[in-house]
Amino acid sequence: STDAQHPLIALDHEVAAQNYAPLPIVAERAEGAYIWDTAGRRYLDMMAAYSAVSFGHGHPRLVGALVDQARKLAITSRAMHSDQLAPFLAELTRVTGLPKALPMNTGAEAVETALKAARKWAHKVKGVADGAQEIIVFDNNFHGRTTTVISFSSHASYKAGFGPLTPGFKSVPFGDIEAVRAALTPNTAAVLFEPIQGEGGVVVPPAGFLKALRELCTQERVLMIADEIQTGMGRTGRNFACEHEGVLPDAYCLGKTLGGGLLPVSAFVSTAEVMDLFVPGSHGSTFGGYPLAARVGLEALRVMQEEGLVERSERLGKLLRERLAAAKHPMITDIRGRGLMVGVQLHTSVDAHEFVEGLAEIGIITKDTHRNTVRLSPPLVIGERELEWAVDRFLQLLDDM
Ligand code: PLP
Repeated sequence: STDAQHPLIALDHEVAAQNYAPLPIVAERAEGAYIWDTAGRRYLDMMAAYSAVSFGHGHPRLVGALVDQARKLAITSRAMHSDQLAPFLAELTRVTGLPKALPMNTGAEAVETALKAARKWAHKVKGVADGAQEIIVFDNNFHGRTTTVISFSSHASYKAGFGPLTPGFKSVPFGDIEAVRAALTPNTAAVLFEPIQGEGGVVVPPAGFLKALRELCTQERVLMIADEIQTGMGRTGRNFACEHEGVLPDAYCLGKTLGGGLLPVSAFVSTAEVMDLFVPGSHGSTFGGYPLAARVGLEALRVMQEEGLVERSERLGKLLRERLAAAKHPMITDIRGRGLMVGVQLHTSVDAHEFVEGLAEIGIITKDTHRNTVRLSPPLVIGERELEWAVDRFLQLLDDM
């Protein structure tokens, strides 16, 4: 059972904005793929903080870097250089294959940075009148919660009552290259996309879409901006999900696991032509790229490359999807994803929200998302037996529903 009667949940209802509907679990500590609540109950973490904890809770190397750096130098602001920032960004540019990076903190800030960069680039480089720049996005997208980013969401509840919204966006069906082509105008600055839609229900675009988008963007002189905040850093079985089609975008938005599961660390990474448009005074953040974040970010990039977690994601993700598919369960209508980013769509007669509450009661933490889909995206360090245990319980609970 979970913690529904916990006094801290009652206090939360009293003092906290209720902008989330959390599971009735009061977490106290975590390690690897497990979380313990205040009563000492253990849960298998099958969502990894929406992919922010891909390398596992309390990864020793990452905690070590954090503690060591916290003792030496944590925050400087960008009023001066630190000995941590340039080495972190150098590694980030090497790993992504794009030469320049701008550090921020949260995912939404990295996306905001991308939108500003794209608009400035279209104005300065393409000669689009300032104020006329257009950006193409996809139906069912999720890029964050700021006022501009919600302006191009397809979900009414994300924007109701928050107007006036920011203009300059066109949304087209996800994965439809002809729709992108039809939406292009001489004022188009960029196409912003998730290589796999995460919050939208783990939606994988048709094969060849990323490649076709790359070709179209190059041909039409439009920036191809990949939001890999959720898909990046090994989650889908590649360092970055664009690599599934051998594509290098003009820019990446990165976040979540870039902070090693310990801190909010995000970045916008792009070409010199784009990045050189940022000059002093045009953009910034007190915390963006602070020494503590830079140290942990660099260590996270090293862990990604040195510990075999990316290949592990590919292998275990395949195992997970195969095990689920083999059950041929009548209540499972679709299994989507790549690597350990998996969405299991349930039959409409099962309420996915109730189902994840039932999972929590039997020791498995995850959340449902759009399309009556249960996401399964554990830390990449999860063991094969733990994964099989989770699949068995998942199927058992489906039988019992
Ligand atoms: N972009 C994508 C693809 C995401 O999945 C998310 C978060 O779920 C964001 C952006 C927003 O990141 P943050 O919540 O750190 O602002």
